[in-house]
Amino acid sequence: MRRKLAAGNWKMNGSIPGLDMIGALKLKHPECPCDVLLCPPAPLLTHALQNTAGSPIFIGAQNCHAEEKGAYTGDHSAAMIAEIGATHVIVGHSERRDAYGETDAQVAAKAQAAQAAGLTAIVCIGESLAQREAGDALDVIRTQLQGSVPDDSAADTLVIAYEPIWAIGTGKIPTMAQIAEVHALMRQELRSRFGDSAEDIRLLYGGSVKPDNAAEIFALDNVDGALVGGASLRAEDFSPIIQALA
Ligand code: PGA
Repeated sequence: MRRKLAAGNWKMNGSIPGLDMIGALKLKHPECPCDVLLCPPAPLLTHALQNTAGSPIFIGAQNCHAEEKGAYTGDHSAAMIAEIGATHVIVGHSERRDAYGETDAQVAAKAQAAQAAGLTAIVCIGESLAQREAGDALDVIRTQLQGSVPDDSAADTLVIAYEPIWAIGTGKIPTMAQIAEVHALMRQELRSRFGDSAEDIRLLYGGSVKPDNAAEIFALDNVDGALVGGASLRAEDFSPIIQALA
């Protein structure tokens, strides 16, 4: 049984006072209905960890470098994220692929570094609107999945997030049939690569997940939760999404 995951990607948003939303989620062991993860910007990670002490909420970063250390101004390594007590890292988000030209091979190297440091890597993939309209979405997903996921990934250190680029921050979402089709394809691809352990890899949907569409998306086969951007910033939005996974 795959435990469901509600993951929040704050992107370059949030503040120290904004971390008060963690308490407002009112999540406690053991009745927390699913795994809950928040990924605030790197300067807020230690504050977020202090705020979640004793709560079931996991804290993760939004990016890491593939190298352990070195002359990479402005970057941080997976080992540094693990050292402060964070447990997850998002890699290959489309905003980073777009703004920093991150390739599938670089994303795979980051995911591998994350896993080697003991973190769970959340590998993001997803097609553009032009690719979707050209009928290429499934090929793009297959290629990105193949190239961005390290070969030796253990199921418990890997999460895949399917995020169609055109659905991110736009309020538009694919049809339920389109989401189901991509998630089935991802499961099948992972099965052919990792065998039975692919059943344990969690597959998230991301892109304009809101309280009013979460339940319908989460009811789909092979959707094991969500990667949520805008709606993860405030407890009143994120809380109903978490509850929809119960
Ligand atoms: P959104 O972002 O929920 O604001 O669309 C999702 C994401 O980029 O992970």
